[in-house]
Amino acid sequence: MNLLVRNVRIENQQGTSDIRIVDGRFAEIDTHLDPNPGEAVVDHGGRLALPPFIESHVHLDSALTAGEPRYNESGTLFEGIEIWSERKRTLTVEDVKDRVRRAVRQQARFGIQYVRSHVDVTDPELTALRALLELREELADSVTLQLVAFPQEGIESFPDGRQLMRRAAEMGVDAIGAIPHFEFTREYSVSSLDFAVELAQEFGLLVDVHCDEIDDEDSRGLETLATRAYEAGIGERVTASHTTAMHSYNNAYFIRLLRLLKLSGINFVSNPLVNTHLQGRTDTYPKRRGVTRVKELTEAGLNVSFGQDDIVDPWNPLGTGNLRDVVLNGLYVTQMMGHAEILDSYRFVTHNAARTLHLDGYGIEVGNPANFIVLDAPSWYEALSFGSQVVASYRAGREIVRAQPASFEVLF
Ligand SMILES: [Zn+2]
Repeated sequence: MNLLVRNVRIENQQGTSDIRIVDGRFAEIDTHLDPNPGEAVVDHGGRLALPPFIESHVHLDSALTAGEPRYNESGTLFEGIEIWSERKRTLTVEDVKDRVRRAVRQQARFGIQYVRSHVDVTDPELTALRALLELREELADSVTLQLVAFPQEGIESFPDGRQLMRRAAEMGVDAIGAIPHFEFTREYSVSSLDFAVELAQEFGLLVDVHCDEIDDEDSRGLETLATRAYEAGIGERVTASHTTAMHSYNNAYFIRLLRLLKLSGINFVSNPLVNTHLQGRTDTYPKRRGVTRVKELTEAGLNVSFGQDDIVDPWNPLGTGNLRDVVLNGLYVTQMMGHAEILDSYRFVTHNAARTLHLDGYGIEVGNPANFIVLDAPSWYEALSFGSQVVASYRAGREIVRAQPASFEVLF
């Protein structure tokens, strides 16, 4: 179907634009376009249009399981892993599919069309992975799912860990993960990263490592990952998620490390909401925020995106899937509240995340698939400040989410 979308403000542009969509792609973008005969027309009244939001780090397999079998009362990453390990034994393909469908619809409502989900493969049955691989196909018209083989309980420290990772690669994941800070020893940490990078190269896959998600300033998986990426020349295909130990690194070490990170060109994903909740739990006061150095990495020209990490599960009882919450919290906690930083902050969950996911044809540009969202605000500044609703989400020119703009009266 051909469609003329009138009167939207694209990203940070001041004026409004009209967008013509032909055969599911952006065909023309201009300040004013006249409708062609037979073309459907929709007027968005000067509202903000953005490329769709991208969830660059979430665990869909555990979504909507909070309280099963019990709640995480300590609020630590490690109690969360214990609870999930118990819940994992009761997984069925239908259980996973039912929860993931609900979680993905909720994400869609908040304007998300691309999701990178880590899937726990420390399960001899690989139940969650089988379910997610089926859903990746089933949902493809509405959401692009990218799946990471995630060894929640370790590669070297879990029985048959390497074989499970290899099976996941053979079954068709998009990326290979690792969890160096959870391995029993520093040697295992290093060898798990060597294994993950080699496996990814063998199968032509991306890499996304849960890297140093701990407040231990001696957790240094990142230097190993960045070195392997640099030496193999695959930095743009490699992502270090969390890197919360970097919050605690001494500055002398960080400055030395930053040179390597720049040489490697790897991507970073920070999960500010969940990491401010999970980190700093062994501190009294001062209590560390535990979020990686987003501002410094960004200023050094490295690519950083933001993720939700968890939706109502043992690690985050309150995650809704709404990336606006993540960006807002991320800006506060990283002190990126300069005016230009606020205006550009949608990039953490759009363009920067697209780079991390290695997406092609992303963005509101002629020739790309006509994927975009419309928010009930004239600018990102207002949308972020007031939590403006996503009123429409288009996928290849087809409307996949529609919402009425909220209206209310203040009665005084
Ligand atoms: Zn995670």
